[in-house]
Amino acid sequence: MRPCSTVMHLLLRCMRRCCRHRHSRSRMARRLRQPVNYIRLIFKSLYFNSLTNSEVLLDCILEPVFWMVEVVTRWFGMVFVFLVVALTSSVVFIGYFCLLPLVLQTYSPGWMVWHICYGHWNLIMIVFHYYKATKTPPGYPPKTKNDVPFVSFCKKCVIPKPARSHHCGICKTCILKMDHHCPWLNNCVGHYNHRYFFSFCLCLTLGCMYCSISGHRLFIDAYNAIDQFRHLEAEKQGVPVTGIGLLIGIVPSEGIAGKVVQVSQPPYTYKDRMFHKSVMYMWVLTSTVAVTLGALTLWHAVLITCGETSIERHINNKEAKRLAKRGKVYRNPFSYGKLNNWKVFFGVEKRSHWLTRVLLPSGHSPYGDGLTWDIYPLKKDMMQV
Ligand SMILES: [Zn+2]
Ligand SMILES: [Zn+2]
Repeated sequence: MRPCSTVMHLLLRCMRRCCRHRHSRSRMARRLRQPVNYIRLIFKSLYFNSLTNSEVLLDCILEPVFWMVEVVTRWFGMVFVFLVVALTSSVVFIGYFCLLPLVLQTYSPGWMVWHICYGHWNLIMIVFHYYKATKTPPGYPPKTKNDVPFVSFCKKCVIPKPARSHHCGICKTCILKMDHHCPWLNNCVGHYNHRYFFSFCLCLTLGCMYCSISGHRLFIDAYNAIDQFRHLEAEKQGVPVTGIGLLIGIVPSEGIAGKVVQVSQPPYTYKDRMFHKSVMYMWVLTSTVAVTLGALTLWHAVLITCGETSIERHINNKEAKRLAKRGKVYRNPFSYGKLNNWKVFFGVEKRSHWLTRVLLPSGHSPYGDGLTWDIYPLKKDMMQV
């Protein structure tokens, strides 16, 4: 009986000690948990708030890349403008000195009038809108004390931002109704020059399409002529010739009576070669620009139809997704209806404006001051044109 009670006594003591030890450990953990949580909270508060999310974190990581792009764009601004002017001038030069004489010599009077009228109208529209887009300031919010209603605050300019305004890192200022910073203009596209930018893109696309379509036949002829010339050069250098189809006049061919017959052909002069190369250069350049700029112009046309800028498209998409999760539908407050958006954009107030303000160069001011905006329901039927 005695050994049994001793064992029981030992077991009880052991259990009591274990229990006491566990209690002290949990007390320790409880005491430690509070400062650990506090330190963790301080650490999190350094980089987290209710407005932070993965996009902000990604922006922070990519900040050096953005900085590089901004510096390069700012420094190379004039280089891009020079490129636009040089490339457009080269095509105009080819048009005047290579194609116009050909049009005057070979085309019927009707086609001649069409090419001269359309070509010059298109050229004037491109030059006018490019000049205006580069030289017109996009519009800036006032930097002094004012009563303009604002929606947010620019931390970089330290000024209140009116609706639709955004900060441009390249121009280092806030821009009214900012669309984007265009390196090809070396200027921001905003409230006061958005129309010039779009009209320039549209007219340049039309001009490139015009050159590409009307120069298509000439391009094929020029390509074939240069290809023939290459064969001739190769034949002169003693390269064996396998076919005679394209080499009329150079390769001797056996007559019926076994005599060698040679057909003469006018020589391929330096002037001919330059003409063909110019035509090929023009066609490749204008076709490429027509496709790429055409896609950009189409995208901007979609945005204008929706009454949005490039920046707003991004913001509105996010807002629409956020509201969709709550079962609500987002409505852009700056959209006045598809046709009205175009009328507001081009400043069309009566029917004749479609001709004088859209199809002809016009320097009229845009609708509104870019600081305050009418909201959709008020302006649904604003222009009965
Ligand atoms: Zn700013
Ligand atoms: Zn800018």
